[in-house]
Parts: sequence; C-alpha cells; structure tokens
Amino acid sequence: MKTVVPNYYKKFHCIAEKCQHSCCIGWEIDIDSASLERYNKLEGDFGKRVRSAICHHGVPHFELGEGERCPFLNDSGLCDMIVELGEQSLCNICADHPRFRNFFERCTEMGIGICCEEACRVVLENTEKFQLDGFCLENYTPAEQKRVLLRQKLVDVAETANAPLSQRHNKMLQLLHCSMPQKSLANWCKFYLTLERLDDNWTQILQHGLASLQKQPLACPNTNQLPLQQLTIYFLFRHFSTATTAKQQRQALCFAILSANMVANLHALPQSNLPLWEIARMYSAEIEYSTQNVARIFAQFK
Ligand code: SF4
Repeated sequence: MKTVVPNYYKKFHCIAEKCQHSCCIGWEIDIDSASLERYNKLEGDFGKRVRSAICHHGVPHFELGEGERCPFLNDSGLCDMIVELGEQSLCNICADHPRFRNFFERCTEMGIGICCEEACRVVLENTEKFQLDGFCLENYTPAEQKRVLLRQKLVDVAETANAPLSQRHNKMLQLLHCSMPQKSLANWCKFYLTLERLDDNWTQILQHGLASLQKQPLACPNTNQLPLQQLTIYFLFRHFSTATTAKQQRQALCFAILSANMVANLHALPQSNLPLWEIARMYSAEIEYSTQNVARIFAQFK
C-alpha cells in the first residue's frame, strides 16, 4: 500500500521535553493488542512496572497518574519506556501521534495533526507550496481521482498569489457553488460554546469572542496570510479526502474555511496574548479530535 504525505511531513520531529503541551499528559493511551502481548512478555523490574501501569477495564490502557500524566513520563519530560527499551517499544498510539491517516483503496494519505504544538509550527511556518510526496493519480480509483483532483483545484485557488485570503476563500466556495452562513464572530463563539470542551482556556477564549463587538460576518483578516493559507490547506487535506458526496465536500470546504477564520479572528481579539500557532493547536485539540464536534460543525453547512 502506497503512502502519500505532504511535503512538510518530514520536517516534523517530536520535541519531547521541550514540549509545553505534551501529548503524554491528559490523553488516554489505549494499547493495541500486539504491544500488549509484547508488554506481557517483558522481563525484570521494568516489565513488572509496565504491567502494573496497565488498566484492563474496557480497552487496555495506561492508567494516568497525578496531573493526568502518563506513568512513563519522567520529571525531565522524557519517556521512560523509550529510555529503557527504545522507541520500538512504544504502543501504536504513542509511536503514531500526531500522525493521522486517510485511507483510499490503493493508497493511504498521512499527515501530521496540529493538536501537537510542533506539528502545528511545522504546518504554519511552511513557506513552500503544498505538494504530496508519493502522489500518483493511478493509485486512486476513478471516483477517488475526481475527489483528489477537485481538492487540488481548491488548494491551487488557496495558493493564488496577490489576492487577500478572504477573496481566495470566496473563490473556493464559488468553485463548489456554496456559501458560508452569515454569522459574526460572536455568533460562532456562541455556537462553539455549545460544543464539547476540554480546556478552560479554550472556553475563556470563546467567551472573549462572544463579547466581541464585531457585527460583520466572519471573514479572514488581512494579517498572517501565509500561515492562514497553510492552515486552510491543512484542514482541507485532512477533511476533504474522506468527503465522498458533493454535500460532504461542500461541508468539508466550509469547515476548513470556518476553522481558519475562527483561529485568525480569535487570535486578533484585543484580549488575546497567545501566538497564532497556540490558538490553532487548541482549536485542533478541542474540535478536530472530537468526531462529535466535527459532525456538529459540518451540520451547520448545507
Ligand atoms: S505533543 Fe508533539 S511535540 Fe509534544 S510530546 Fe507529543 S508528539 Fe512530541
């Protein structure tokens, strides 16, 4: 099975102890069956430590410790599992994160999810045009080819030089004969506050947006054009690929544009003192990693 990745993919490397929002804190780590089998055969004290950290209620997973830390995350921010046994000892979820996959019949598209701060920086700081390493049209079925070619057309519009991104967004919408709901930032924040939320900081940011006096429909500001272009393309790459019907494709495009605009406008609020990548990271963790939240946003579009 061929793997296709964006051209920035290889630039990603986990920054481990330098990470401010480690994925080893606060996320349940389910253990796949092959890894569980390996862990059951580990010898010595470390083997005992690994087995005592596994909870077998429901899907086997590592029991998080104080502050919801993974039991193998040490005080230096390093993973004891890697220190003791090497990277190959990690279970699939740890070895894979923050990668995501979209499956096609004869190939798999893989990307890096921006809920990871380093992946987010790689995506937003990319200055090259979006290309897919390993891409070959023949590796897609005819129906898939139509979809990926349409996605590429949208990416080409997003990358058109010398036009503000808000205009490029409108052209992308015209291409699929759709439009965005005419809602202000405050109205969108009111809706986002009804979604499932994890982090109090995210709630606070949305509340600032709710109190915003902007009355005009949400659109992309004229600042940070290149990172916001990359963000739009990231959401498109991740969510358009699995949209098989025309309606789902319109919804995926609107989701991509809305997501980039929400990040941009929340970052532009006077109360905001966070870098753009941090708002984008939080958005991804709160929205993209909840299928329920993504479905509720998709349902806002016709
Ligand atoms: S969030 Fe990303 S950079 Fe941070 S520890 Fe996880 S994979 Fe590494």
